[in-house]
Amino acid sequence: MDKLLKGIMKYRSTVRDTMVKQFLKVKDNPTPKAVFFTCIDSRMLPTRFTQTNVGDMFIIRNAGNLVPHSHCFPDEQNSNEPAALELGCVVNDIRHIIVCGHSDCKAINLLYKLRDPEFASKENRRLSPLRSWMCTHAQSSIDKFEESIPNDFNKPLLFQGETPLRKFVAYIDPDKKFSIEDRLSQINTLQQLQNIASYGFLRKKLEKHQLHIHALWFDIYTGEIYYFSRRHKRFIVIDEENFAKLFEEVIVYYS
Ligand SMILES: [Zn+2]
Repeated sequence: MDKLLKGIMKYRSTVRDTMVKQFLKVKDNPTPKAVFFTCIDSRMLPTRFTQTNVGDMFIIRNAGNLVPHSHCFPDEQNSNEPAALELGCVVNDIRHIIVCGHSDCKAINLLYKLRDPEFASKENRRLSPLRSWMCTHAQSSIDKFEESIPNDFNKPLLFQGETPLRKFVAYIDPDKKFSIEDRLSQINTLQQLQNIASYGFLRKKLEKHQLHIHALWFDIYTGEIYYFSRRHKRFIVIDEENFAKLFEEVIVYYS
């Protein structure tokens, strides 16, 4: 806590005045650009690695950057994630939703172990809210992952985008450079697109191409950020070499 108190004192004497001016500007003219789902991991600093500022993004964080599927809420009992989607995409008319996973994700490393039925037993889940959260909301990611095991990730997977008709193909780690858990993390990130699209209150906007869902993936070891390109069917690193083609894809398909 002492680190935080010192940090707040530094903030007061440095960036506070500028931020207050930005708060006022945003209050009068809010134009948020994205609803951004990511993991709670302390190494994930989305406003820093996207260089976004006050008023740009709504950020929702949880263990494993999961968005529970709507079938988890049969009695209209909603949780944080769908409420955030409504606040961002309906109330504030944000047109882009981003799910950002990352390498060495502790929640995903746990999910990988939860493939063992004994480790994931009802009793064990009762002892651990984290295990329960991952088992309940990331089973579809595990199912997709298991599809890839027999062919050693050489065959592509099929995911769903904005609507059941907008499916897309994904080659997971075709260059064979990530760990098995990191491949699960990439699959999990892509699986959240379907979960987001499961919400009825977003359906019309998704069908009319007024709302788009994207996947990013952050490699904590190198600091590189990947964009999932549906055109190229894989995560592509956002760098000087690939920027132009990724920018064009985003402009052509999603503006
Ligand atoms: Zn994580």
